[in-house]
Amino acid sequence: MIKITAIETGKAICKTRQQTAKEGRSAIGRKIDIFRDPNFVSPLPILTFLIEHPEGKFLIDTGDTAKNSNPGYLPTWNPFFTKMVKIKVAPVEEIGYQLHEMGVNPATDISAVILTHFHHDHAGGLDHFPHTRIIGSRENWKECQSMKGKIAGYLPQRMPIWFKPELIDFTANPISNFSASFPITKDGRIFLVPTPGHCTGHLSVVVRDEDITYFIAGDASYNEENIRNEKTDGVTFKPEIALKTLQTIKQFATNEPTIVLPCHDPNSITRLKNRQLFA
Ligand SMILES: [Zn+2]
Repeated sequence: MIKITAIETGKAICKTRQQTAKEGRSAIGRKIDIFRDPNFVSPLPILTFLIEHPEGKFLIDTGDTAKNSNPGYLPTWNPFFTKMVKIKVAPVEEIGYQLHEMGVNPATDISAVILTHFHHDHAGGLDHFPHTRIIGSRENWKECQSMKGKIAGYLPQRMPIWFKPELIDFTANPISNFSASFPITKDGRIFLVPTPGHCTGHLSVVVRDEDITYFIAGDASYNEENIRNEKTDGVTFKPEIALKTLQTIKQFATNEPTIVLPCHDPNSITRLKNRQLFA
């Protein structure tokens, strides 16, 4: 039996056009739409997921940090950081404090942290894991370090100085309808799959328990409904790839009984609690 717990590490508020783009818009058109959109969505959770497996405890994403609200933390020259998205994290909402509350010591009890991608609301809690193995995608790490990355949602300059993630590539092990996968546990029950689109090299985490599969989707989609309706987000620079990823997740979740868990879906917590399947 594998246990999965959703941990909410604060709130993110973004424009409605970031969450769901207008059909057929180009990558740049989507950014203009976000900029011009007067409407913000209701505050969305920033979720991380703790997986308790016989081979160890694995944490998916680290949430953001309370430092986000310190003047100067976000680059003021970039309105996408300071005006288009609002992040609110209290110190006690940070992942390290919450794990401690649950009786899990982040320094000693986590076998690995897996990052779906390096955007700041997923990697902002890295400070709590200087002693832990941290896994991410090589392609996404490359984007995070690039000039484009510094404009588009990554804060590599704020990452801990010790940070050297273990980088993975998707080259083999096709599973279900995914062309490749990367195993995390020896029993094959936890593995990573490529879900690019929201950003380059984005990955999702699949957990196959005996009778049910969990698909931890990161930001492959902001919510389950958008996967069902094949609606891509405003963030993507590759709309066709983002769409293909949504279709692949949809097919996967139809092939086997699956609970789909995006990181900013307000319904992820209830779906997990009620074991509500995608199909
Ligand atoms: Zn993201």
